[in-house]
Order: sequence, then structure tokens, then C-alpha cells
Amino acid sequence: MIIADNLYELKSQIPNHVTLVAVSKTKPNSLIMNAYDAGHRVFGENKIQEMLAKYNSLPKDIKWHMIGHVQRNKVKYIAPFVSLIHGVDSIKLMNEINKHGIKNNRVIKCLLQVNISKEVSKFGISLNKIEELFNYSLSLQNISIKGLMGMASYTNDKSLINSEFNSIKVKFNELNKIDSNFNILSIGMSGDYKVAINNGSNMIRIGSKIFGERKI
Ligand SMILES: *Cc1c(COP(=O)(O)O)cnc(C)c1O
Repeated sequence: MIIADNLYELKSQIPNHVTLVAVSKTKPNSLIMNAYDAGHRVFGENKIQEMLAKYNSLPKDIKWHMIGHVQRNKVKYIAPFVSLIHGVDSIKLMNEINKHGIKNNRVIKCLLQVNISKEVSKFGISLNKIEELFNYSLSLQNISIKGLMGMASYTNDKSLINSEFNSIKVKFNELNKIDSNFNILSIGMSGDYKVAINNGSNMIRIGSKIFGERKI
């Protein structure tokens, strides 16, 4: 019952408007079912094949969030069921997601991943590219860009984390003012979710604080 306790404790700390994505990557179905039995329904995975296998064997009312990098040739596997794709960072990927949205007769919700950390990262667009990608997405009928996702540097320096989260929050607020459907800010993990919530996060992605440390 440790997982249920972790969940209850976390949920007691976070405001109601903040969605908790339980990051279950590398964890077995049995642990996901512990969280499910405690009433949790929103789970995050970072690998397409792993998410697909879990989707196939677990209850169908689970909302699956893809939080990792998405290769274009794998979009087809998750397009029928994915609830939110957090890691969209190119026009080519948006076109591919839209194509599979059409095939599956659904509008696939996504976030633009923004590279806000000073660390070298292959993924995520820079802050000044957000408008361009968002505006392009408005021409596509079967993808909906709902907001932004970002990861702060992996550091104990709370003021650095705070300034990185602040930079994405400012951009998010600008676009949210123009379009109220653009309303999800996915920032905050086990080590920094409090700083993220102070910066307007309304979606946090928590793995180790719920399921324990990962070996890989
Ligand atoms: C693994 C992962 C998380 C969760 O990390 P924890 O530190 O275990 O909470 C959140 N977001 C992304 C994108 C991840 O890959």
C-alpha cells in the first residue's frame, strides 16, 4: 500500500487544478495497478513500445500521456488511444500526428516541448519558436496544441530552476491570453514540482516520488 500512501500524500500537497501525471516508465503493471486501485487514472510513459504494451494489458479507462521523445514512424502505434503527447518539437512531427489523427478520426492533444534548461538537450524548441509552431498547428484539424511542456536543469540550485520555469510560464501566459484553449503548462517532476507550481504549473509529472527510484 506504499504507492497509495505516496499518492494520497502528494495529492494532499498539490492544488486541485494541478493534474498529477504518475510517471510509470520502467515500472511493472502490478505497481500501476496499485495506483489504479487507489483511484489514479493518469499515467505517463516515455517509450512508445512500453506504453503500447501497458495500454493493451491494463484497464481501458487509464489516460496515457506520452512524455518522452516521439519518433515520427512510431506515432501510428499510440494515435488510437493516447490522451496527451507532451514532447512535440517540430512541424514534421505535428504533420505526422495530424495524419494519424485523421486516420483514427480523433483530434490528438499535444504540448510543445520547450528547451528551457541550460543543459545540452537534443529535444525541445527554443522559447522564440513557440508562436511559429503553434500558429502552424492551427492549420491542422486533427491535432490540438494545448500548451507547453518543459524540464528544468537537473540541479539543486533552486533559483536556477525557478528562473527556467519562469521563462516558460511567461510565454505560456502570453499565448493563454490570446487563446484560452491553450491552457496546459506541464512543468515539475519529483525534485522540483513545488517550484513549478509556484510558477503556474497545472500539470506535474511525478515518477520516483510515487513509485520509488528507478534503476535505469
Ligand atoms: C522520468 C520523467 C519524469 C519523472 O521523473 P521523476 O524525477 O521520477 O519524478 C517526468 N518527466 C519526464 C519527461 C520524464 O522523462
